[in-house]
Amino acid sequence: MSTPEQYDAIVIGTGEAGKFIAWHLGSKGQRVAAIEKDEIGGACPNVACLPTKNVVHSAKVASFFQRGAEFGIVYDAWHVNMAEVSARRQKMIDGLHEVHLGNFKKSGAEIIKGFGRFLDANTVQVDLNAGGARTLTAPKIFIDTGSRATIDPIPGLVEAQPLTHIQALELDTLPEHLLIAGGGYVGLEFAQAMRRFGSRVTVVERNPRLLHREDPDVSEALHQLFHDEDIDIVTDATITRVEGISGAAVKLHIAQPTGETIIEGTHLLVATGRTPNTQNMGLDLAGVQTTPSGHIRVNDRLETTVPGIWAMGDCAGSPHFTHISFDDFRTVRDNLAQPDPSTPNRSTTGRQVPSCMFTDPELAHVGLTETEAKQQGTAYRLVKIPMLAVLRARTLSETRGFLKALIGPDDRILGFTAFGTGAGELLPAVQLAMVNDLPYTAIRNLIVTHPTLAEGLVSLFSAVPPN
Ligand SMILES: Cc1cc2nc3c(=O)[nH]c(=O)nc-3n(C[C@H](O)[C@H](O)[C@H](O)COP(=O)(O)OP(=O)(O)OC[C@H]3O[C@@H](n4cnc5c(N)ncnc54)[C@H](O)[C@@H]3O)c2cc1C
Repeated sequence: MSTPEQYDAIVIGTGEAGKFIAWHLGSKGQRVAAIEKDEIGGACPNVACLPTKNVVHSAKVASFFQRGAEFGIVYDAWHVNMAEVSARRQKMIDGLHEVHLGNFKKSGAEIIKGFGRFLDANTVQVDLNAGGARTLTAPKIFIDTGSRATIDPIPGLVEAQPLTHIQALELDTLPEHLLIAGGGYVGLEFAQAMRRFGSRVTVVERNPRLLHREDPDVSEALHQLFHDEDIDIVTDATITRVEGISGAAVKLHIAQPTGETIIEGTHLLVATGRTPNTQNMGLDLAGVQTTPSGHIRVNDRLETTVPGIWAMGDCAGSPHFTHISFDDFRTVRDNLAQPDPSTPNRSTTGRQVPSCMFTDPELAHVGLTETEAKQQGTAYRLVKIPMLAVLRARTLSETRGFLKALIGPDDRILGFTAFGTGAGELLPAVQLAMVNDLPYTAIRNLIVTHPTLAEGLVSLFSAVPPN
């Protein structure tokens, strides 16, 4: 082993938490090495959140063309050009890449392109993408290696060369019939987008209903949406075997309680879960333990089993959202600032985990669901209004869905779900009330600009039944 190069901090993986910790420590004058094997900035700006929302928005534009007459606009000669859809996405990614490079440069953190793996608890070898290797050492090491699409051990699946979200985003021709394994967030966002571009789409979901952890009325509303958009949903369905090759012809052998069936399509997208990127990294050489699911074992301060090594984001088993990875960074950053007694000791325990699925309309949620409240025996009052009651939604002709909230006996908001246009934008106001223990009346009594979607919150909380 060559003499290791000495750094103050090494970051393995430049996902959300990784890049922010690198920028933070770099800008404080520390010598930081940020190791990245693929795209700088991780999944979110390159292959996940932002590119999918870019493509989802192109699909929304296609839906406006389909609905044009409803808005008094008739434009007959239109078609979808997937190469241009893809080009718009790539242009955004290229712009984000420049932003990331600029931030690294400004912070002084060094980017090293290659695969990082531990030699011991303080030493990391980088197998450089350009060939050769470098050996680095630092007293502080941060792991943010993310996750990848799970490919289940189903006979024929690997041989079928299925698309993951990465290749699905790069399609520059439209699949004739896209089969999607998995009816979670990723599968459903793609399903609707590809259908709106013109593909026939079939979603195969192993549970009895879509998003089975959500309340039944949420699942029902989603089933109705997908039915109305002519997307086939096959539930309670276990894929037992795959035949053929994605891109040409694929057959899914499906087992359902009612019997066996075969579904045929031209392309297959797998969206059945995420696998943490924790393999072949020499974690055992460093003494960093993993959980049975393969995530890095961390405590509520994101400290691994080895002092001086932290893990953040998907690889640490944090809820798989970019905003949570960002909060992991803030947790580690603030705790690093100890022992300054004025800095509170930050923990991931009990933090809010808001979520939004970017189907159209969006599904946004924070706090308890009704199902969870019932399971926990938590007393609540339910308030629910249709999006039709939100006047702004009427102006947009986007009246599908509902807003609902669970209110505790002390008038605090226990949970909030919005299935409706712009739902994600409604979350922060409700979150703010929740984290500050404000009663629902604090939102109800606001003067909210008319006509906005947020005005719907006033309508919702005005309808809370008395205690
Ligand atoms: C299709 C899709 C859509 C999504 N949409 C949303 C959304 O709308 N909103 C949301 O909040 N979340 C969304 N997510 C989830 C979100 O993308 C992830 O939770 C988030 O990107 C996780 O960030 P991270 O910090 O864990 O690391 P990642 O962003 O996964 O980055 C990890 C990085 O580490 C690198 N790496 C891995 N191993 C090594 C190694 N040994 N050496 C060097 N580099 C390595 C990888 O190349 C990668 O760049 C979506 C996910 C998918 C798949």
